[in-house]
Amino acid sequence: AEGVAGEGIADQVLTAALAAVTEAEDELGRLDAVAADGDHGLGITRGMRAAVAAARAAEQDGEPLAGALLRAGTALADASGGASGALYGVLLAETGAGLRGLAAEEITTTVVADAVDDAARAFVDLGKAEPGEKTMLDAIEPFRAVLREQATSGAGVADAWCKAAQRASDAAQETAHLVPAKGRAARLAERSRGHADPGATSFALIVTAVGEALAF
Ligand code: ADP
Ligand code: MG
Ligand code: MG
Repeated sequence: AEGVAGEGIADQVLTAALAAVTEAEDELGRLDAVAADGDHGLGITRGMRAAVAAARAAEQDGEPLAGALLRAGTALADASGGASGALYGVLLAETGAGLRGLAAEEITTTVVADAVDDAARAFVDLGKAEPGEKTMLDAIEPFRAVLREQATSGAGVADAWCKAAQRASDAAQETAHLVPAKGRAARLAERSRGHADPGATSFALIVTAVGEALAF
């Protein structure tokens, strides 16, 4: 399988993610306002802006992808605040941790799938969400599963990532049928019925944008 090559790869993929959440900022805020405080669009764009700046600085310092993602995750959590900021920070940092010590050409689909598994586990350790509770996890879990299937069938990183992102997008849409059991929206859970979870939606947008950047 092909590896993830190229200089400034963390900067490139996170810049693509920033563009996607910036374009969707109002929509993400509207989704979060349905049953919660309406700040998700603002929070994730602020967090992702900080993540891009941190990744860029790290790569300019000569850090490999792993180190750049670690620094980006910390920056995102610090800048974004809110439940999703801490959770996205862990996802980014733990994905980076899974790539530590590897040369670009060693980052295969299996390595990426392993890193994402570890990140998903850390995410659940922090947030305690279970599948079906209408959170980001309902997009992360199918993303993780498709990435693993693709790794097993020998797909390249970009192809595998894009297929997983497609599944995450479908899953994010499907969260509209659920009622939230975790996070701020759980208190007004019934209001949320018929609307997608904001965190699942932003996750799908982010991984889709990253996939497009990887495939480019
Ligand atoms: P806050 O609720 O602090 O204002 P955001 O609005 O930025 O934070 O993010 C809300 C999103 O965070 C939700 O849509 C959900 O996907 C996610 N989320 C909240 N709590 C949890 C949790 N415990 N586990 C997983 N995801 C969560
Ligand atoms: Mg909110
Ligand atoms: Mg908030």
